[in-house]
Amino acid sequence: MKVSKKAQSVPPSATIAVDARAKELKAQGVDIVGFGAGEPDFDTPAYIKDAAINAMKSGKTKYTPTQGIIELRKAIADKLLKENGLKYAPDQIIANIGAKHSIYETMQAVLDPGDEVILPAPYWVTYPETIKLADAKAKIVQTGSENSYKITPKQLKKAITKKTAMFVLNSPNNPGGFTYTPDELSALADVLKGTDVIVLSDEIYEKLVYGDTKFVSFAALSEDAYNRTLTVNGFSKAFSMTGWRLGYTAGPKEVIKAMEQLQSHMTQNPVAFVQYAGIAALGDPEGSVEKMRVEFERRGKYMADRLNNIKGVICPQPTGAFYCFPDVSSHYGRTINGDKITGSMDFAKALLEKANVALVPGLPFGCDNNVRLSFATSLEQITKGLDRLEKWLSQ
Ligand code: PMP
Repeated sequence: MKVSKKAQSVPPSATIAVDARAKELKAQGVDIVGFGAGEPDFDTPAYIKDAAINAMKSGKTKYTPTQGIIELRKAIADKLLKENGLKYAPDQIIANIGAKHSIYETMQAVLDPGDEVILPAPYWVTYPETIKLADAKAKIVQTGSENSYKITPKQLKKAITKKTAMFVLNSPNNPGGFTYTPDELSALADVLKGTDVIVLSDEIYEKLVYGDTKFVSFAALSEDAYNRTLTVNGFSKAFSMTGWRLGYTAGPKEVIKAMEQLQSHMTQNPVAFVQYAGIAALGDPEGSVEKMRVEFERRGKYMADRLNNIKGVICPQPTGAFYCFPDVSSHYGRTINGDKITGSMDFAKALLEKANVALVPGLPFGCDNNVRLSFATSLEQITKGLDRLEKWLSQ
């Protein structure tokens, strides 16, 4: 059957592709160490599961309002006020089926054909595709290790044209593992003053920050920032709820209304009993988020320290999310155990096939010098995988 040009224009997610090959090898009995995962390795806390079960048992199994039940939107509004200093009314909030859906729908709601979207590289693989699906054009801005892979105010200013409709900001960052400081965010916000640029602030990793890193929502910086920002967040990473598919967007009423209209014809509401689980999750009665964060911090530090001790590998200490994003390009041009390594794709492929370690090449994130290693796996697995990586690179 015919497949549309639009569908054909979207490649499969590279992060999923590596995972698929690793799973294939695992199924053949090969002992693979996986650093590919983009999800916490902890189970969803029991109190969240119980809330879903109770909701289901009490009949919360029917359609809900498209934008989500009012109780959930009130709970999100409370969270945004208390934790982020952001004042959003429930009609400025829409629940979506995962933050991925929030991002797709946000772009569909505000972008027009020909609009430009400023996207700093490294970027999460889904952004360029969602921009394309909204018939807009990604304007990629290459960052560098000298600024910890963050876009500078000067770079942002230079990238703005008459066609710029949006700037995508993701802090803490996937794949970079970095977090913008409040001062850095303010400097970026200053550049946008006087423009019509909308900021899509993807804050899904906000709870996972390390050391003395302080998370600040972009919209909380100033009234100007608040008025131009669509704040995206979700339950997947903070509450280990990737499979539940619950995210949300907060922003100006007219955009949320437009998203609701689109959503009413696409998916309608997120799963009814999952919305009740979302309310319970936000209460976090057992401090599960902090327990998980502390464990991620320990692993991230260990991983970055080990990586920096491997010859030809340079890795900034992660300040957020659960990724190390080392520069391994000094090994490009070499032949390792019979494999010629010309870039991150070869690097990841050879490492998986020869040393049975799965990581994600940097190329699909817009940074071919780097590779991404997730530390959402046990310290034991991290140790084993890094031993293998070290040995493989020493050949
Ligand atoms: N934003 C970023 C930066 C992510 O890494 C992810 C998940 N990989 C998402 C959004 C989407 O999360 P979900 O759809 O599970 O809520």
